Amino acid sequence: MNGFDLKGKVAIVTGGNGGIGLGMARGLAAAGASVAVAARDMAKSATAVKSLEALGAQAFAVEVDVTLEPSVAAMVQAVADRFGRLDILVNNAGINIRKSPETYTLDEWRRILDTNLTSAFMCSKAVYPHMRKAGGGKIINVGSMTSLFGASFAVPYGASKGGIVQLTRGLASAWAKDGIQVNAVLPGWIDTELTLQARKDVPGLHDRVLARTPAGRWGVPDDLSGVAVFLASPASDFVTGAAIPVDGGYSIQG
Ligand code: NDP
Repeated sequence: MNGFDLKGKVAIVTGGNGGIGLGMARGLAAAGASVAVAARDMAKSATAVKSLEALGAQAFAVEVDVTLEPSVAAMVQAVADRFGRLDILVNNAGINIRKSPETYTLDEWRRILDTNLTSAFMCSKAVYPHMRKAGGGKIINVGSMTSLFGASFAVPYGASKGGIVQLTRGLASAWAKDGIQVNAVLPGWIDTELTLQARKDVPGLHDRVLARTPAGRWGVPDDLSGVAVFLASPASDFVTGAAIPVDGGYSIQG
């Protein structure tokens, strides 16, 4: 038996049309899952779908704004209608706005918390009845190094990512009885559109990350493929409520 086999399983990846989400989606697709790429920009999602189909997977794009409950409900319904089941949810969609804490407006704070944290709660709540009916499921939440450390230039983001870890633990405790495992992945510094902007906003960031990362490089989205497959597959059936750094050693460097 291959404990990492995802044939016949159906996954939703929010923010799956680029960056880390697409890296995770590629891992799930290569392991045999059918993947729904869920994001706002449908042109970008269409390109992502093509790249997943090239791996031999069934994939389709579903438009969602994860900050809006009716949009989340429609996404889950569309995936259930299309594939007839739902086994894996990756709560990956996220944004950041970097500046000093005293300069955020309440609207900016709420936008970050809604996109990064409240969305994960809403999506998890929306998939729960489907996973429960199927006798189990896998939820993978995307945290960050700021789930562990304070970042002076990203206070609301850090609050949202700290919250992701506690959301993970709470849901893991609550839904273990339903055969649903809920885990978090804490990526280190990964080269994506998000961090391209961070490197523009924060002088010296690129070199500081390199100096602190024992692996001696920034991560790439495909560095997240393996952990996604592990946490989505029967191989992780006794792993729940965990927060796993995928960071080239960044978080253990003194
Ligand atoms: P990207 O900016 O490349 O991707 C963000 C994704 O989120 C896009 O696919 C975007 O799609 C989607 N998204 C944003 N807002 C919404 C929304 N309201 N509704 C639906 N989808 C939305 O960033 P990354 O790949 O770097 O980030 C992915 C996740 O990883 C985030 O949660 C981020 O916080 C986390 N992370 C990233 C790290 C890094 O170093 N890159 C480190 C640690 C964590 P669209 O615009 O089409 O909606």
